[in-house]
Amino acid sequence: MTNVLFDLEYDIIKNGNFKWKEFVCKDGSLKINKGTYLLFERLQILRNIIGVITIESGYRSPEYNSNLKDASPISRHMDAHAVDVNWNTKVWSINMVSLIAEGLGLYVIKYPWGLHLDVRELI
Ligand SMILES: [Zn+2]
Repeated sequence: MTNVLFDLEYDIIKNGNFKWKEFVCKDGSLKINKGTYLLFERLQILRNIIGVITIESGYRSPEYNSNLKDASPISRHMDAHAVDVNWNTKVWSINMVSLIAEGLGLYVIKYPWGLHLDVRELI
């Protein structure tokens, strides 16, 4: 998305602290839809609870996704409905954060480094 009225420094959720620059594809492209907001409404609650959360992968363009070695060809990252996140796992265990995320209605896939979260059960 290229638009002079849009800035990647903007907050995704009003009164939240996620910025679009945290979600934009590493190739610079961006897609936003209802599922994106459903996702970030819940991610903001998660960040408020556990503190620092880093988005390692947010939106992925189909081109970017197809060049990733282990990415699903039907990845929900391409729908702007998913993020991969990590945090200080010495403070909050993977299992604990996974439980909180599931409680918020997010679909969770656990990895050794963090979690994949998406909104497949909310849309
Ligand atoms: Zn993922």
